[in-house]
Amino acid sequence: SNLPRVTYSNTGEDFAGVHAHLDVLIPEAEARLLGKSRPALIGGRDRIEGQIVVALSPIDRDIVLGEFPQANESLVDEAVEAARVAYPAWRDMGWPKRVEILRAGADVLAARKWDLSVACLVEVGKSRLEAVGEVEEAIDLIRHYCSEMERTDGFRDDRPGASSAERCRVVFRPYGVFGVIAPFNFPVALSIGMMSAALVAGNTVVFKPSDAAGLTGRLVVEALLAGGLPDGVLNLIQGGRMTGEALVRHPKVDGLAFTGSNAVGMTMLRHAAASQAMRPVLAEMGGKNPAFVTASADLSVAASGVARSAFGLSGQKCSAASKAYVARDILDQFLEALIAATGKLAVGDPRRQEVFMGPVINEKAVDRFSIATTEAASIGTIVAGGERLGGGIFDRGPYVQPTVVIGLPSEHRINRDELFAPFISVLPFDDLDAAIADANRSAFGLTAGVYTQDERELDLFLTTIEAGVLYANRASGATTGAWPGFQTFCGWKGSGTSGKGGLGSWYVPQFMREQSHTLF
Ligand code: GLU
Repeated sequence: SNLPRVTYSNTGEDFAGVHAHLDVLIPEAEARLLGKSRPALIGGRDRIEGQIVVALSPIDRDIVLGEFPQANESLVDEAVEAARVAYPAWRDMGWPKRVEILRAGADVLAARKWDLSVACLVEVGKSRLEAVGEVEEAIDLIRHYCSEMERTDGFRDDRPGASSAERCRVVFRPYGVFGVIAPFNFPVALSIGMMSAALVAGNTVVFKPSDAAGLTGRLVVEALLAGGLPDGVLNLIQGGRMTGEALVRHPKVDGLAFTGSNAVGMTMLRHAAASQAMRPVLAEMGGKNPAFVTASADLSVAASGVARSAFGLSGQKCSAASKAYVARDILDQFLEALIAATGKLAVGDPRRQEVFMGPVINEKAVDRFSIATTEAASIGTIVAGGERLGGGIFDRGPYVQPTVVIGLPSEHRINRDELFAPFISVLPFDDLDAAIADANRSAFGLTAGVYTQDERELDLFLTTIEAGVLYANRASGATTGAWPGFQTFCGWKGSGTSGKGGLGSWYVPQFMREQSHTLF
């Protein structure tokens, strides 16, 4: 308990105690957590129905994560019904009581932090510190949203009336049942972020974790329920695409919160537009995030920040840096520093202390990586990495090398599409203005970073880049590592629906609808 807190940017701390704790805990937690049946949880009860999938760890396919029944349409229906039944009482309970229950859930998460970190590490291949950091982030998210409810009195705004006889106020009310669909890459923080915002606002939830993160999804739900959520307020269904589609198409779902690919998010938005029901679809949908390194930059800081953002979690973050625009004058020095920084990042079994980058999530991700490296090698030059790894544990999981490429034309699809792989493309520039304009041609606009010591360059970046989350001169990550209450997380353009993302003040109200009261 006196171990230091792990956040994404406190990389300078001494984590020897954290590692010593994990050395003992990891094998012990694996024995307790893995290989079990992890059913759906509906109305407070386990439900096993539908085809059972046995999921294996990407770290090592000899590790069985557990058994997950894939919820079919009738089970999805049951979950939505349970959420509907629970809704009126949860809505009418009032936000102060909801805040109390969610804070109790955050305390349970904090008590179970280490087990959850191990589950997340083994299930999606996160490094130790990224896994623990993510659970800390999730706890902070709940507490932040709860504080926002308090600070704004539940987003209530009392106003004098237009005449002395009337009283006016604006209040924010929940929608009803929210479907929450989460990705594999932040199976604790993103799931908790979307769910806790929906819940504190007064909605009930049907949650579908990624089918690559069903164990962590189940443990997260158990922790929130243990905080005292009434039965049916939060329901878990396990499954893949079919289950997700059944939830998205369900006529009695009043709102959807989704984090994942642009293709799936846009499909959800199209479906919402085509259906007769008006309902909000909050979609956070990825990025193609640039880092700019100017001639005035501190190159060792820049190389560290770019490498960490490009290769952390094997590049499988929507916030990952995937393009580095580098001033031509310093291109050679920067490349040398980037290649050196990349070489220092250990790839391997993420249970090991020194490992920075574990596997990618599955074989499909390796295919995406391999197609990109083959294309990149034929048009440009691979200056670091480029290969799938083999031998030892590498033969039992999808491990690839962190990869740096130069010489791909800006309009090449590798410089346009989100790859979700440890792959960065370096683009030399002569003029920062033009480089920013080039980056702005992206369909996405999530995060961006700059390395410069020049005030005018910094100002140019801050005022012209089209992205929601900006960082300058950050060694711990050029474009990644936002933290609740400090950064907001708001995708512009194809990265998200509203530009009012999680982690900040404007997130929770998106799970509510505005209502005006005029009283005489
Ligand atoms: N919140 C994470 C970060 O800032 C990224 C979340 C995501 O990839 O979806 O690095």
